[in-house]
Amino acid sequence: MVADGSYDVLVIGGGNAGISAAARLIRQGVEDVAVIEPQQVHTYRPLLSYVGGGQAALQSAERTQRSVTPRGCDWIRDSAVAVDAAQGVVECASGRRYGYRDLILGPGLVPDTDALPGVDAAMATSSVASNYLNQAEETWRLVQEIAPHGRAVFTLPRPPVSCTGTTLKPLFLAAAHWHKTSRPVDITLVIDRHRLLGVPDLDDRLLGRCHELGVHVLRDTAVTAVDPGGQRITLADNVGATRELPYDMLHLVPPFRGPHWIEASGLAGRAPHGLIDIDPLTLQHRDHANVWAAGDAAAVDTDPSGGALRRQIAILVDNLLAARTGKRLDTYDGYTVAPVTTSAHRLIPGEFDRSGAITSSLPSFIDPLAARRSAWAFDRYGLPRSYWNLILKGRL
Ligand SMILES: Cc1cc2nc3c(=O)[nH]c(=O)nc-3n(C[C@H](O)[C@H](O)[C@H](O)COP(=O)(O)OP(=O)(O)OC[C@H]3O[C@@H](n4cnc5c(N)ncnc54)[C@H](O)[C@@H]3O)c2cc1C
Repeated sequence: MVADGSYDVLVIGGGNAGISAAARLIRQGVEDVAVIEPQQVHTYRPLLSYVGGGQAALQSAERTQRSVTPRGCDWIRDSAVAVDAAQGVVECASGRRYGYRDLILGPGLVPDTDALPGVDAAMATSSVASNYLNQAEETWRLVQEIAPHGRAVFTLPRPPVSCTGTTLKPLFLAAAHWHKTSRPVDITLVIDRHRLLGVPDLDDRLLGRCHELGVHVLRDTAVTAVDPGGQRITLADNVGATRELPYDMLHLVPPFRGPHWIEASGLAGRAPHGLIDIDPLTLQHRDHANVWAAGDAAAVDTDPSGGALRRQIAILVDNLLAARTGKRLDTYDGYTVAPVTTSAHRLIPGEFDRSGAITSSLPSFIDPLAARRSAWAFDRYGLPRSYWNLILKGRL
């Protein structure tokens, strides 16, 4: 491949990972940075949980991509379709090609339609919604419209999924609304895992809360088919037995995977589900020393989240610059978060590391697993401000 243009650092994906990395690089004096991103609108995804729970308007989660792209950074409005890492060239859907000295990958996840076919058809029906598939307003509509004694089903897929803990936010916020409006609803949570997050104390708190609310929890159970016409899903347990589960409202979080072009470009290597095969400690690609990745599509060996990205991006940028001068690379301990609203106005921050140990940033006398109103207020109002004003500007 011959490049049409070239950058010192080229970033694929202008989401949380890509924009914060570009901004941080520019703050550190790197002058020639570009971000490839096809969307005109940038979404702060964590607020979508509150849109789906009736606590925020969709517009408050959105900004134009232009406004979040750092000053001094080129925005290439295109989609990457292939990377030739041996030649150091990215090819875009328009046919244009761009060279780079270092490449940062932050393209996020895509639904795994081999693992669960028919997701798009299901999402087009009026009884299915998902905060995870740009339908948070639909989630809130379904929560309000479900009839008394209706059947609400929420799903949590096997990894990878963006911020596992927040797949539970729609359930708990919906349950709070039904409690407030005195509407009995039959709630089922289908979990395609044995545990929730693999953090025993946190899992116990969250499953305990499900128990208090009378939620039927089906563990080790995958959704293998959706029949939107018949309003039922097919479930398979871990010994292969299948059965059908009817719903009046389905909040579908499908299985996800890395984008197919990552795998086709040979960048997935040994990583599962087409994720980018980086060293999870240094965030450097295992086979290509000038390719880096962070965020949901990277094999970071921890639960991906926006909270995790705050640490990943700082380490990635430091390491990219350190590698240029042969300095020692820093390591990422897998810090991540699972902020879960267990009721309308209370939240467990759920910070933990790769080993599954709780790593609270709160003073030691505060129980890190207690659901608190202040934590909800910070998640709902404080973090969005930090995101727009500090995180996307490479200051945090
Ligand atoms: C509903 C929901 C709620 C969440 N709540 C929380 C929370 O409360 N706390 C928390 O810490 N985290 C939360 N998260 C997780 C957090 O939002 C993600 O971890 C974070 O957005 C990941 O950033 P990313 O840049 O890796 O991916 P994304 O944010 O998905 O961005 C990827 C970008 O890449 C672009 N792209 C895709 N393909 C291409 C291509 N071929 N070429 C160029 N660009 C491309 C996309 O358009 C997109 O802009 C939530 C996620 C969701 C979905």
